Amino acid sequence: MNSQVLEKLHEILPEGSILLHEPMKKHTTFRIGGEAEVFLEIEDLAQLQQVLPLLIEAEEPYFLLGNGSNLLVSDTGYQGTILHLSGEFTDVLIRDNLVTVGAGVLLSTVARMAAEKGLTGLEFAAGIPGTIGGAMVMNAGAYGGEMKQVVKTAMLMSPEGDLMSVSGEDMAFGYRTSRIKHSKDILLSVTLELAQGNRDDILTTMQELALKRREKQPLEYPSAGSTFKRPEGNFAGKLIMDCGLRGYQVGGAQVAEKHCGFVINKNQATAKDVSDLMKHIQQVVQKETGVLLEKEIIFLGDFE
Ligand SMILES: Cc1cc2nc3c(=O)[nH]c(=O)nc-3n(C[C@H](O)[C@H](O)[C@H](O)COP(=O)(O)OP(=O)(O)OC[C@H]3O[C@@H](n4cnc5c(N)ncnc54)[C@H](O)[C@@H]3O)c2cc1C
Repeated sequence: MNSQVLEKLHEILPEGSILLHEPMKKHTTFRIGGEAEVFLEIEDLAQLQQVLPLLIEAEEPYFLLGNGSNLLVSDTGYQGTILHLSGEFTDVLIRDNLVTVGAGVLLSTVARMAAEKGLTGLEFAAGIPGTIGGAMVMNAGAYGGEMKQVVKTAMLMSPEGDLMSVSGEDMAFGYRTSRIKHSKDILLSVTLELAQGNRDDILTTMQELALKRREKQPLEYPSAGSTFKRPEGNFAGKLIMDCGLRGYQVGGAQVAEKHCGFVINKNQATAKDVSDLMKHIQQVVQKETGVLLEKEIIFLGDFE
């Protein structure tokens, strides 16, 4: 990074908020990834509105990080700036059946807080290890629920620093996508509309779903969840299993024995191991079944 830009960042952000050469394996659920050149902890809107234009004007690449649970960072890291939202971006405000939550809050946290207040609608989200920001980008979903069903309004910021309040309908949610996935807009907060329910029933449903996950998913290994999107009328995991790839390994990366839809970091896998394994899976599945699996995981950094 240009030293003048770094100097200006030091004027905007408090001591300790700027990390250099930060290992990204610390910030991804895969526990994989080289160093980010610069890693910024952004604690409020005023900081974001100063930092973003500065990076854009200096043509410094940047990436908005959630909980890194859908992310593969390359072994050579990221030659740019990672923005991580904390501070006021982790606020939660519950008023009647409306829950306003900052982009940096974990889904599991907000799902539990809603349950404690007897609010139903977020049970599906309790076991998804992402932030509200990542979940809005991906329209995260599970067990018949998805973000699309509960979003009333979202507060976005354009790269120029303009704020926009966007209704749930205008978020253009689709399967693992939304209007922010392919734009440079940043999700700041969202208001979820839940319904009154019974606290104990909600907590029981959450426990049942957590148990299902533990039974079906290889949660004992680092991963980024489902590696590929669900192909129309089929399941990626089933196709991969039917092609005889259960347990197939490249270096330290493996097609999970427990659930073939997951690539896991079995034993100190590199990003290259994961990406080579994913390519191999795509080739075999396409050759055997004609289906081209599309990756769900987001790649950051340089890959061959
Ligand atoms: C064990 C496991 C189980 C999983 N189960 C599920 C599941 O059941 N259903 C499901 O949908 N997913 C699942 N996932 C995948 C993942 O948790 C979700 O996709 C989640 O929504 C990603 O959120 P994140 O905060 O980790 O985002 P990240 O991985 O950090 O980022 C994902 C994308 O969102 C962008 N982003 C993050 N925050 C913002 C923001 N504030 N503004 C703009 N862009 C932003 C990033 O730039 C990136 O493009 C699972 C993952 C794991 C590891």
